[in-house]
Amino acid sequence: MKYERKHFSLYLSLTLLLFSSIPSLSSTKQQPLTVAEASNFTATSRYADVTNFIKELQHRSSFIRVETLCVSPEGRTVPLLVIGQPVPSSPLALHHDGRAAVYIQANIHAGEVEGKEASLMLARDIVLKEHPSFLDRLVILIAPIFNADGNEKISPANRRNQVGPEKGVGVRYNGQNLDLNRDSMKLESPELQGLVRNVLMRWDPVLLVDCHTTNGSYHEEPVTYVWGFNPNGDTSIIKYMREKMMPSINKNLVEKYKVLSIPYGNFMDFGNPEKGWRPSGPQPRYITNYIGLRNRLAILNENYAYADYKTRVFGCYYFLLSILEYCYDHKDGIVQLIRNADRKTIQRGLNPTENDTFAVEFEAKPLADKVTIRGWEMEVIPRESGWPLVKKKDKKRTYILPYFSDFVPKRSILFPYAYLIPTASAEITEKLLQHGLSVEKLREPVSLEVESFRIKEIKGASRLFQGHRLNSVKGEYILERKAFPKGTLFIATAQPLASLAAYLLEPESDDGLLVWNFFDRYLVHQWRQEPQIYPVYRLLKAVNLVKESVK
Ligand SMILES: [Zn+2]
Repeated sequence: MKYERKHFSLYLSLTLLLFSSIPSLSSTKQQPLTVAEASNFTATSRYADVTNFIKELQHRSSFIRVETLCVSPEGRTVPLLVIGQPVPSSPLALHHDGRAAVYIQANIHAGEVEGKEASLMLARDIVLKEHPSFLDRLVILIAPIFNADGNEKISPANRRNQVGPEKGVGVRYNGQNLDLNRDSMKLESPELQGLVRNVLMRWDPVLLVDCHTTNGSYHEEPVTYVWGFNPNGDTSIIKYMREKMMPSINKNLVEKYKVLSIPYGNFMDFGNPEKGWRPSGPQPRYITNYIGLRNRLAILNENYAYADYKTRVFGCYYFLLSILEYCYDHKDGIVQLIRNADRKTIQRGLNPTENDTFAVEFEAKPLADKVTIRGWEMEVIPRESGWPLVKKKDKKRTYILPYFSDFVPKRSILFPYAYLIPTASAEITEKLLQHGLSVEKLREPVSLEVESFRIKEIKGASRLFQGHRLNSVKGEYILERKAFPKGTLFIATAQPLASLAAYLLEPESDDGLLVWNFFDRYLVHQWRQEPQIYPVYRLLKAVNLVKESVK
């Protein structure tokens, strides 16, 4: 026995010696480098570089597992890293072991590459430590190359107004020519369908971070950020993010890592910059607003295109690190916040009152605190297109501006108990299920008092947008008794995703399925001249009905 043990340890030493003499990356002491690091910040990773880097991490660490987020339109497997100590055996295990999942997504616009490099560096720096940070409380999900097809079209000709990498970046669109940050409501890309199915519905992360590069207004701060801010989502989450979480993350970012950051936005009027600073709109086609409708936290990270590539990669890296540090320190509070949001949403749907409303028009108001932008004097040259040519002068200038990111309801309607769709196409049923909504159907015919929407005017946009002519609609609500046949779809609002259900189904929603043409075949005038009724009916008060669930 003694001899055997000795023999075994000799064998082990020889094996280690043998392996350590093979000059492969996996056995060198040196940590693997990203393409950004190895190229001295002149290039960005191709798809194969990303998958090889991930393999290298797997050779060295048991804290990382690779799942498939989706297969891209051009056939690439989009990797999702699941980082944990241990990696949870299944998402179900997370519900019992007290850890929370946080999701970082990069390269959705594949010309905006620093999130891809920074998230890979971050994955490495976490999993290759003997005692990794964060992992006793967090499971970290990373999709470093969300738009893999766009990434592979790397060319120095893309995004030429961006300061590096000089060897080029990918393109904005995916393999279907779609902008993936406009696809959250219609879910027409495998990438977004995969995000919802394989990340949101599978791991239910408490937070999503979506990394981009902005090339708008000139300023010194390399990192900009904003939270999900559609007021049809849970407003306690919006308030928490803008008043507590983001100020704390950014204080840490500057004090600990010496990286400046500001809320994301642009001058509202370049000719008159004092007017204010504003982000993009509140529509949930933007992923971070969509996540807010699902009662989860979201951060849009836009790094500043006029900062050099290395500064952008490190800015993004430390921003992500700072976010993880906050989530680590406040995990229980965040989990409690989203639990409460889900509970309030379900309670609202069980018995909606006069105070429960859904906003169909918004107004952007300034926050109480102004933002400070370290900018430059600007030369503004008007152009026929309407968007002026802006050049920065040499002289620096600090702007202290109102920040118009408090989107408040301008017009609202009553929140219903449920939606009924008597003649839903397979496509509409499938779309609701893709979002993870709980959908039922009536098992027997019933007559109900409902609110219907009579369309007075429907207009498709003259220009195509993302392959659609977006509809705008005018009409009126009519309370009427209506017979619903067996098989009618029934979408209760007593479910955690009720705000999303309303956004998809309300006729006047500014980003719903009607806007995106899913109901066109029900609504176009064919041989009929009388006003059309929108085929989704609003049931305002609770009724017990015989139903079964649709899978
Ligand atoms: Zn972008």
